[in-house]
Amino acid sequence: MTIKTRFAPSPTGYLHVGSLRTALYSYLFAKKHNGVFLIRIEDTDRERYVEGSVEALIHVLNKVGLTYDEGPVLQDGHLTEKGDYGPYTQSKRLEIYQQYAQQLLEQGSAYRCFCSKERLEKLRSDQQLAKLPTKYDRTCVGLDSKEIQTRLDKQEPFVIRLMIPEGETTFKDEIRGMITIQNSEIDDQVLLKTDGFPTYHLAVVIDDHLMGITHVIRAEEWISSAPKHVLLYKLFGFPLPSFAHLPLILNPDKSKLSKRQGDVAVEDYLKKGYLPEALINFVALLGFNPSGDREIYRMAELIDSFDLTRVNKSGAVFDLTKLNWMNKQYIRSIEPKRLMDLAAPFFDETLNFSLDQKERILEVEKERLTTLQDLSPQTHVYHTIPEFDKELLIWKKADQQDALHHLQQLEMTFRNADEHIFTDRALIEDLIKKYIEVNQYQNGNVLWPLRVALSGQAQSAGPFELVWVLGKKESMKRVQQAIEKILS
Ligand code: GLU
Repeated sequence: MTIKTRFAPSPTGYLHVGSLRTALYSYLFAKKHNGVFLIRIEDTDRERYVEGSVEALIHVLNKVGLTYDEGPVLQDGHLTEKGDYGPYTQSKRLEIYQQYAQQLLEQGSAYRCFCSKERLEKLRSDQQLAKLPTKYDRTCVGLDSKEIQTRLDKQEPFVIRLMIPEGETTFKDEIRGMITIQNSEIDDQVLLKTDGFPTYHLAVVIDDHLMGITHVIRAEEWISSAPKHVLLYKLFGFPLPSFAHLPLILNPDKSKLSKRQGDVAVEDYLKKGYLPEALINFVALLGFNPSGDREIYRMAELIDSFDLTRVNKSGAVFDLTKLNWMNKQYIRSIEPKRLMDLAAPFFDETLNFSLDQKERILEVEKERLTTLQDLSPQTHVYHTIPEFDKELLIWKKADQQDALHHLQQLEMTFRNADEHIFTDRALIEDLIKKYIEVNQYQNGNVLWPLRVALSGQAQSAGPFELVWVLGKKESMKRVQQAIEKILS
């Protein structure tokens, strides 16, 4: 049997980090078992629909590398789809849901309900006042066929409700184990609304079945809906898929992860310069850890080690400090070409660096970045040296004369050095170290004034790196300017 999983977001605007984890676990599970992963758009709640969300979702999934075998795709900027089980957007499947709802009506497993919104609201508030569970009271179950026909002829609006049978419902959750619920606790769920749209519950069961989903992996918030779904599977005679409900993602104060305590949109993290690889790694470990202490896993390793039954039951805390740490690790270790592709939009274009300069800047500055957004302010020094006080040129164990002497010597050393030395960081280091060693100077006496002459800053990249990025001409110019500063 081919394993098939799905990610079924509602297009409500952006991709929540919790949803990214749901998508990722579904993806990892499918890939681990050489299965199929599909995307389905659950847009039956028209009030929550946000224009452009599907396109945005496809962009984000592409960026983070969650490739899927079936579902909506963008082709030349237009939405279309791939796969043999479409349409993959629920609003395009209305007739299918209507047919299945009809089947339940005919089976006597569902009934039409003509109750008005006002009546249902009153029922609800009366039940709440009486401290009773809020459930539909089945007034419309008693309607005879003649009355139903009269009301249909009058075109009275109605919904179709599931007739929850007596008994109890049991199913196995791959993470939580066996779950049993008394059917008396389940409301007669609306399946089809007055406008002919299905509710989530009807649509999800039909689609998961027709699309051949073998493992339903989704957020914990849906676990209370699962018994209704199990009942529907049984009433339709569909085989049950496996269910896995993923634990909540929490704020550090253990409340449910919310916008109020920080960003929740994956798009925002990408915009801030978190690497897709780091986000994937971080999100993967929210609720699952392949082995003990290790924290860094690339996608292929996650696929290899993913095990649904080892997902934690308890909520996982979203720890931004850890994400920052992870992002730093990835910025330092990822392939330079990939880093350049990701970092390119973060350069300040008004500074007009060449590609070669950008590559060197990135190589040097990556050691000091937490996110790629930190890059732009750190690049200005390679364009224009900031104003600084000449006192800064003097190392703490030296004086002005000493700084002046070394800067003059270094200026001469640079002038006499061959151009090709400046294209190689190691050769630059050799050149400067030789000057220090031959004369038996201390590093600080030489490297401090040089670094400040090149950067104008108390803290910056190292002097060899600065020379490497700036090149011979600009380095010499900055050293000369520092000399003039001291002499002025
Ligand atoms: N459309 C639901 C959501 O956006 C998905 C629920 C499910 O995966 O069954 O959360």
